[in-house]
Amino acid sequence: MSGHIGGTYPNFSGRVVTEADPDPDYDSVRMVWNGAIDHRPAAVAQCQNAQDVAAALIAARIRGLDVSVRGGGHNFAGNAVWPDALTVDLRAMSAVRVDPVTRTAYCQGGALLSDLDTATQNLGLAVPAGTVSHTGVGGLTLGGGFGWLTREHGLSIDNLRSAEVVLADGRIVEACADSHPDLYWAIRGGGGNFGVVTEFRFDLHPVGPIVQVGLLFWPLSQGTEALRTMRETLESLPAGFAAMLGIGMNAPPAPFVPERFHLAPGHALIIVGFGAPDVHEKVVAGVREQLPPLFDLVTPMPYTALQSLLDDAAPPGILAYERALYLDALTDDAIEVMKEFSGRKSSPMSFAPVFTLDGAYTAVDDDATAFSGLRRPTYAVNFACIAPAPELLAADIEWVKEYWQALLPFSRGAGSYVNFMVEPDQERVVAAYGADKYRRLAAIKREYDPENLFRHNANIKPAA
Ligand code: FAD
Repeated sequence: MSGHIGGTYPNFSGRVVTEADPDPDYDSVRMVWNGAIDHRPAAVAQCQNAQDVAAALIAARIRGLDVSVRGGGHNFAGNAVWPDALTVDLRAMSAVRVDPVTRTAYCQGGALLSDLDTATQNLGLAVPAGTVSHTGVGGLTLGGGFGWLTREHGLSIDNLRSAEVVLADGRIVEACADSHPDLYWAIRGGGGNFGVVTEFRFDLHPVGPIVQVGLLFWPLSQGTEALRTMRETLESLPAGFAAMLGIGMNAPPAPFVPERFHLAPGHALIIVGFGAPDVHEKVVAGVREQLPPLFDLVTPMPYTALQSLLDDAAPPGILAYERALYLDALTDDAIEVMKEFSGRKSSPMSFAPVFTLDGAYTAVDDDATAFSGLRRPTYAVNFACIAPAPELLAADIEWVKEYWQALLPFSRGAGSYVNFMVEPDQERVVAAYGADKYRRLAAIKREYDPENLFRHNANIKPAA
């Protein structure tokens, strides 16, 4: 083991990488998904197991170092790797074991969605997670976690049966209904505020392995009709289906898109069916008839392919910025704002993905978990600046801010999904959880992390 920030790390079996270490290269271990982030940590502790995590946390406290925790590194703000802090790097802890009898996935804290989906789909099982396969299970789950299976089976946290958590003082505890139930409640939505989760245990559901996917794409010129058609489709979408909107996205230069429409700006509706192909085709045909698209695609595909369908829309290293809002309804006025702003972005990759949260999502009580959102039918609107060049980043950061501001009056307010927060100032974090939930979280924070060691996140301050 090497260590250059005050000597060795007792009981640490991994490597500690600093600026002075050529192998592995410091620059490669400090990089996160967002290429606009250039944080230089004091050191990166590459943990192999929960004991390493405990040793790293204790070493950081002894040395007076800040701590950041790295799961998949997808947080837009780069919270995973903080300047001058010790990065607790979980990347080597990515194993997933599946018990098909109890339908449980045992997923290490540094796994990516691709690790989880591959292991579970080998047995025809899955747990709700996100929509881009290189996202980390850790950050996504601790903030809530929604994706294609959410209408059917809820958020990732709704399927989290228990977790192994390393606390700020180095203790390794079990969080579940019978052990540290307050911690179990808090980690289901409270983000990385309470400790480092080294293992997630998820309930699994039979899914696929083949699912039905339909993509319909309308040009920007059909904005109002396209967005209203999407709204009507979502409002009448039967159980067994999921949908996502790509508002103001450019048609991908993919083989299924006629070449003349490659990168054409417009609006996409993706409809996923988990049942029979003919039932899915009927739903897609209904939409097609209502408003003929510029082009569409209907195809069966493996669930794991669905999980990586959007990977290229946001590749690692791209420059990025985001904001988000919850909308209770896609009103005509909100649709007009979306139409207007869709034509004003600069980067062809920027767009507003809209996630529909209903079905099983609403079957859980607001207070049953710490999730930063209400459990009633909701649209989670993400304003994503995704740019291949700095000048496009600068332009679309302004686009995102203005777009967000323009839709704010139609939303539930500035508090949104904590996993989509780039600027998690105190006011916005309190607004995200609501005052009562925040108070409860702050009391639990005082119990488990009184010194606020885990503070480079949408931070919950320990109650006084
Ligand atoms: P990291 O940057 O590693 O971590 C994020 C935060 O969680 C940090 O504060 C970190 O300290 C903490 N953390 C991570 N792992 C652990 C752990 N094991 N224990 C304790 N703390 C930990 N969200 C959705 O819900 N659905 C989506 O479909 C979706 N799609 C996305 C697509 C892209 C391209 C991107 C960039 C993000 C997407 N997100 C989505 C948001 C995603 O949930 C957050 O970015 C999340 O923070 C990513 O987790 P991570 O582990 O990759 O990130």
